[in-house]
Amino acid sequence: MIPVTEYRNDTVAVFGLGRSGRAAVSALVAGGADVLVDDDSDDRRAGAATLGGRPARLADGAVADARILVLSPGVPLDHPVPAAARAAGVAVVGETDLFARAVRPDGRPFQGARIVGITGTNGKSTATALVGHLLAEAGKRVQIGGNFGTAALVLDPLDANGVYVLEMSSFQLELTSRLTFDVAGLLNVSPDHLDRHGDMRSYVAAKKRIFRGKAGACAAVIACDDRHTAAVFECLAANAARRTIAVSGARRVDGGVGVDGGRLIDDLGGAPRAVADLDRCAGLIGDHNRQNAALAYAICRTLGIDSGALARGLSSFRGLPHRLEPVGEIAGVRYVNDSKATNVAATARALACYRPVHWIAGGRAKDLDIGPLAPVLDRVRHAYLIGEAAGALADRLAPRTAATVCETLERAVALAARRAAAERGDGAVVLLSPACASYDQFRDFEARGERFKALVAALAEAAA
Ligand code: ADP
Repeated sequence: MIPVTEYRNDTVAVFGLGRSGRAAVSALVAGGADVLVDDDSDDRRAGAATLGGRPARLADGAVADARILVLSPGVPLDHPVPAAARAAGVAVVGETDLFARAVRPDGRPFQGARIVGITGTNGKSTATALVGHLLAEAGKRVQIGGNFGTAALVLDPLDANGVYVLEMSSFQLELTSRLTFDVAGLLNVSPDHLDRHGDMRSYVAAKKRIFRGKAGACAAVIACDDRHTAAVFECLAANAARRTIAVSGARRVDGGVGVDGGRLIDDLGGAPRAVADLDRCAGLIGDHNRQNAALAYAICRTLGIDSGALARGLSSFRGLPHRLEPVGEIAGVRYVNDSKATNVAATARALACYRPVHWIAGGRAKDLDIGPLAPVLDRVRHAYLIGEAAGALADRLAPRTAATVCETLERAVALAARRAAAERGDGAVVLLSPACASYDQFRDFEARGERFKALVAALAEAAA
C-alpha cells in the first residue's frame, strides 16, 4: 500500500466504498488523516469503520468539514454528495489523484518510478497487462493497477527502477488533475458511456486528459485507427515539445509502429524493420490485438526497452481471462469466452476472428446500433440471444442472421453446442461475446464468463 501523507491531521471525505474507495480510506488513514466515509449502502458505510474511517452522512453537510472529497469513479457527478462538496467549495478528486500526490508530492515528473497510463474504449486491460508483462520480462520492477485489478494506492511502492502501469477509465481521468504520466497511450474511441459523458465530444475530451501535464514531460502514444484518436494525434503532434508517436494495428506507420501482413513494424528510428510475427503470438489473437501490441510495444520502446526483449515478451504473453479466452474443445468444436465484450465494437472484433461462429450474445444493452457488426455477420451461423436485450437484438439481426431467443446462458450454451456439433468439421466455434453489459443476469462480466466456463466444463465431462 502507498500511504497518502498530504492530509496528516486534516479531515478528508471518501464517498463510494468499492475497491478504489476502500483503498483511499486505508491509504489516508495510514497517512494520518481523519477520514469521513460514506456510501449509498449502509453496510458499506458501516464496514469502512474497520478500515479506520468515520461513518458520516456527507450529503447532509458533513462534507463541508473536509479538505477534499475522494469520489468513486462509478458515482455520477450530479449525485447529491459531489454536488454538496462543490457547493461547499470542497475539491472533488479520485483515488488515482491521491496516488499522484503520494508518489510525486512535488508534482514533478521523472522523480522515482516512471508512470505509464493507458486508456481507450476497448483493449485497456489487455494493453495494460501486456505493457506490464513486457516490462517485467525485460527486468523492470512493475506494478499494474488502476481501473484494472488493483486500485493504484494498493500497489507496492517502487523505486527509480520501477514502473507503475495504470489502466485509466474516462471516469477516473475526469477525477484527476494531479496525475500526469511519463508515457501515456490512447488505443481507440468508439461510442460508450455516453449516458455519463453526454456526447462524443466530452467523451473524447475525458480520454484526452490522459495527456495532461507539461508537453515535454509526457510522451504520447496514440493508435490512429479511428477518426477520434487521429484527431487527438494531430492536435498533440502540433506541439513540437511533446514526443508524439503514432501507431496502428492495421497498417505501417511512418515514424511510428505499425503492422504489415501480421508482422509488427518498428519505424521509430533508422530503417523500418519487422520486429515480431504477431500471428505466432498465442495471447494476441485477432486484429484488435495488433493494435494493443503496437501500442504496448511503442510505450515500452519509449521507456528504453530494446526490441529483442519486447519480441520475446509479445510471444510469451498469454492474454487475459474473459477476452477471447479459449476454454475448451469438445468433439471438434472450440469454445471461446469473450464475456468482457460489453459493447458492439468489441464484439465486432471478436466475430472477425472465427468462422463459422455460433454466437451467444445479449444482456443489458448499452447501445443497440448493430451497424459495426455488418461486415462480420456473414461469419455467424446462428445467434443465441439472452437477457433483457434478446428480443431487440433478434429484431435487428433479422432477416440476415438466424437467431433464437434463449433467454438464459444455460439454454444458449446447450442449443449452440448441439448445433455446432453438427458442423465440427468446419472448425466451428461457440463464442460468448455478448455486446451487452451483464448486470441483468449476473453480478459482473467475470461471473458471466465463469458461468460460461462451468457450462462448457460440464459439457466436456458429459462428452467424456
Ligand atoms: P477494456 O479494459 O478497455 O474494457 P479489454 O482489454 O478488457 O478492454 O478488452 C475488452 C474487449 O474488447 C475484449 O473482449 C475484446 O473483444 C475487445 N478489444 C480488446 N482490444 C481491443 C482493441 N484494441 N480494439 C477494439 N476492441 C478490443
